[in-house]
Amino acid sequence: MNDGTDALFSVRGLTKHYPLTEGLLNEAAGQVRAVDGVGFEVRRGETFGIVGESGCGKSTAATSMLRLEEPTDGAVFFDGADLLEYDAEALRRFRRDAQMIFQDPDSSLDPRMSVGKSAAEPLVVQGMDDRKRRRRIVADLFERVGLSAEDMDRYPHEFSGGQKQRIALARALSVNPKLLVADEPVSALDVSIQSEILRLLSEFQSDLELAVVLISHDLGVVREVCDRVAVMYLGEFVEVAPTETLFSDPRHPYTRTLLASVPTPDPAGGGPGTELRGDVPDPSAPPDGCRFHTRCPEVIPPEEFDLPQSTWRRLLEFRKQAEQDAIDLDGIARVGVLENEDDYGGLEEPTADSVSVADLKRWIRAEYDLPRTIEDERAESVLSDALDAIVGEGPADAIDRLSAAFETVCEQSNPPLERIEANHRAACYLEEETRSESGGSTGDGDSNS
Ligand code: ADP
Ligand code: MG
Repeated sequence: MNDGTDALFSVRGLTKHYPLTEGLLNEAAGQVRAVDGVGFEVRRGETFGIVGESGCGKSTAATSMLRLEEPTDGAVFFDGADLLEYDAEALRRFRRDAQMIFQDPDSSLDPRMSVGKSAAEPLVVQGMDDRKRRRRIVADLFERVGLSAEDMDRYPHEFSGGQKQRIALARALSVNPKLLVADEPVSALDVSIQSEILRLLSEFQSDLELAVVLISHDLGVVREVCDRVAVMYLGEFVEVAPTETLFSDPRHPYTRTLLASVPTPDPAGGGPGTELRGDVPDPSAPPDGCRFHTRCPEVIPPEEFDLPQSTWRRLLEFRKQAEQDAIDLDGIARVGVLENEDDYGGLEEPTADSVSVADLKRWIRAEYDLPRTIEDERAESVLSDALDAIVGEGPADAIDRLSAAFETVCEQSNPPLERIEANHRAACYLEEETRSESGGSTGDGDSNS
């Protein structure tokens, strides 16, 4: 079966869910949706980057796309044939044609084996019996990665991290692969060494017409060597673009926040990005709607209100806490009393019940950084009713009204990865708004499906 493109490596709807179990009996308790339908293509001689915070599914994507663990769903084409349908012989050939390097070079080096022998191992596995020939190939590669042939007889502990990564690279290249998947290959190295290793990778990539998938949490790293980049968040691609486009015209708020947090002399495209708060949410219970909306600094406000983004963002956070009944009234009262000695001096162990309703409401606003009054009157009235409900005096459905009034399109459904222009795709309703004005279309190729 052919996938109908000229890509060497083509991944479609790749999905990996891990069963989540609980207790001694390992009862099923849902799924960790580590990778949730990602797709991309890599041509010979091309470097494709995957970037995203730790925990967003990059390594799982790497091992699943190479079938080092079985994907839950999706298709992977290598040289036009479906990898998931390979027989044992085809899989063996693939194991030679596709090599992987890891963050920790020690994972492919046996401490009790000379590094030359370790580096020659893939050749042994592939059935090359001629020891002298193996040594010649490895010696040549050692020179090319900036080591010397004499280094072959030394042991891993005699080398620095950067040198070991060079050896790991020589090892991966010994069998003349067509595809190299590098998962955080320089993350453990000093910044000064990082560039050297990346340059080496680039050299091989162009000399050998290698297709490379480079995974990193560091945008600076992908920028140095990648032709195109996918930004991954919580199991999905949220933006895919040629590297320069991604940096000069980032369209997804997640990309913008990542860029804003990179120290670079060229802040172009940082846009309104602010610092990224909190951690990647639990992939066994990803947020409804756009998975990024719980952290997004650009969540789309409901049309009927006129709210500054900062107020809107805080209302959203406050609302989520209220919905979960997670507002700690006693704690807020305690802090309020401490800060208002004059009014409450001498009150021991204050609780929500021992302070005035008006104060408590004011302190809740302070705790959640909400304005004392919101300028938009209708928004203010919804919030004020909700505060009454929360401190126990208002109508019980005020919180429901808060949720209904301030619901955003971003939490209703997950925006698909759509085409902005040739080669550039992003999954964000902000883009849809722009597009619906100019009339765009759904993209194909790199996708989330
Ligand atoms: P990244 O490489 O981007 O840091 P990973 O692919 O390592 O992310 O992990 C993605 C998510 O999948 C994480 O929440 C991680 O805890 C979870 N995960 C990874 N491997 C397993 C596994 N074998 N079983 C269950 N969950 C896993
Ligand atoms: Mg990882």
